[in-house]
Amino acid sequence: MKVILAQKAGFCMGVRRAVDVTLETVQNNDQRVATYGPLIHNPQVLDLLHDRGVEVLHELPDKQDGVIIIRAHGVPPAHKLKLAESGATVRDATCPRVMKVQAIIKKHHAKGYFTVIVGDKDHAEVVGLMGYAAPDVAVVSDLADVEALGIAGKYIIVCQTTQDRDSFDLLCAAIEARFPDGKIFNTICDSTNKRQAEVRNLCDRVDAVVVVGGKFSANTKRLAVIAENRNKPVFLVETEDDLDIAAIRAFDVIGVTAGASTPTWMINRVVRSLEVIPGKGQSFLTTFIRKTMWLLLATNVYAAVAGGLLGGVFARCLNGNSSLNGFLISFGYLFAMHNINRYADSHSKKFNDPILEQFSEKYCKALIGFSSLLLILSGSLVYPLGTAPFALFLAMTVFGLTYGNRIFPESFASVLKIKRLKEIPGSKTFLVASAWSLIIILIPNWKGFVLYPNLLLMLMLVICIYCRTSLFDVFDVQGDRIVGKETLPVCIGEKKTLNFLTWSLYLLVALAIMPFMVGKGLVVTLLFLPFAVYLLFLIHLYQSGRVVASPRLEFMLESSLYVLGLSQILFHL
Ligand code: SF4
Repeated sequence: MKVILAQKAGFCMGVRRAVDVTLETVQNNDQRVATYGPLIHNPQVLDLLHDRGVEVLHELPDKQDGVIIIRAHGVPPAHKLKLAESGATVRDATCPRVMKVQAIIKKHHAKGYFTVIVGDKDHAEVVGLMGYAAPDVAVVSDLADVEALGIAGKYIIVCQTTQDRDSFDLLCAAIEARFPDGKIFNTICDSTNKRQAEVRNLCDRVDAVVVVGGKFSANTKRLAVIAENRNKPVFLVETEDDLDIAAIRAFDVIGVTAGASTPTWMINRVVRSLEVIPGKGQSFLTTFIRKTMWLLLATNVYAAVAGGLLGGVFARCLNGNSSLNGFLISFGYLFAMHNINRYADSHSKKFNDPILEQFSEKYCKALIGFSSLLLILSGSLVYPLGTAPFALFLAMTVFGLTYGNRIFPESFASVLKIKRLKEIPGSKTFLVASAWSLIIILIPNWKGFVLYPNLLLMLMLVICIYCRTSLFDVFDVQGDRIVGKETLPVCIGEKKTLNFLTWSLYLLVALAIMPFMVGKGLVVTLLFLPFAVYLLFLIHLYQSGRVVASPRLEFMLESSLYVLGLSQILFHL
């Protein structure tokens, strides 16, 4: 089935900030951490925060220790004061755009204005806003509320940030008709506006719409209503388990959008579940291609073959060795280690990609068995190359297999708070990149290894694999952050990671060209340029919001290795 994912689906800035503040607080201190009210309207995220030790306070506490976090929706000022008096440290995660509305109300209330809030009476944000104008405030949800309004004197109208534009305009007109000369502030958040406009556009391109989000999330329900008003069948789901597969099979193209409090990993789970459902008019060939693509990614065959191709081509072009040997050494090792290591990483995969996790569990024995055979094959081809490369191969294998195990002694672990190698921030990506470089360039070309250009090529390959693997981490950042995985984007943030990767690719370009400036240029380094351009283009598309994290984007990213491999092969043919 063809699935079109809305670009603005998922966490808005305010929700992302609130979740980040909470996770950062949990990560960086040993004190009790609580949120005042549910942090966001998404039960799955709340469950995961609960698993990380975050409590939810439903009442204002008289006494409290540790840290209390104010939710993205904000709270009345009196509540903020009471929280501070409880003795706890208060961290305010109120969305800056909600704060702006609070400031408008506060300023006008001080000047004697009455406040009308267009929104849902019981919504946490509206309750918080009312606190800034009480008792001179009224909430309007429909025309009946407008009829019941009584305003004597000057007044302002503001709205809940996730309000629908059409209903806001309608209610403002009705209020003005009764009470002229009010001051209107359209406080609908820009992210809400764009998300809603996108759903309207999406409806023109799809047969039905799936909206992913908490059933109590006002903005999620509003997205569903917008699609319904466009006469599209709508499926409002919290998780992939809620999908009505039988009904969805009747369509060819499904649009997916999500509320502001839905994390990317939950959206991806729904998208992945939809993509494996055959659409009504989908041809056998399309189904076959989609399933094959998925299987190649899920089994790591796609990545391992790319590594094998690189191993083969470098074995031939650097030393005139057998390209088949180079292929088999690299392919066997990479297939084995990627598949075996997935079992050390299953906690985060359970959130980021449950279908892959189910697949891994189901075929665990086959994958481990086949991986072991390929590892032996790879090792048996390395053995004749000499004691040193074979020892290195064994060391890399042991290192790779123990990466997720506890290896540091208690004394070391208690001082540095690190028990396993994988707990060293960003270590996995660097180790993966180094392993690729060693198995593709150093080990197969051990005999006759020359410092130039082999060392340079190893460094360039480390940069390539580091960038490719880090980008995967960027796509998985929300799920990884929730489970506490220490990837680069989790540690320094998505934006800084993308900037860092961009500069790393510029460095790759410089390394490809620089040898020519000193009269030592080789075409083999220039052949890294298509890879750099391809990945820079992908990062640009992702940063500009033209592509979103999705299974298709993952396939495009993994294909970057083929851009590198095929450039080398085509030249050396
Ligand atoms: S929808 Fe807008 S106002 Fe509301 S939390 Fe998100 S960014 Fe902030």
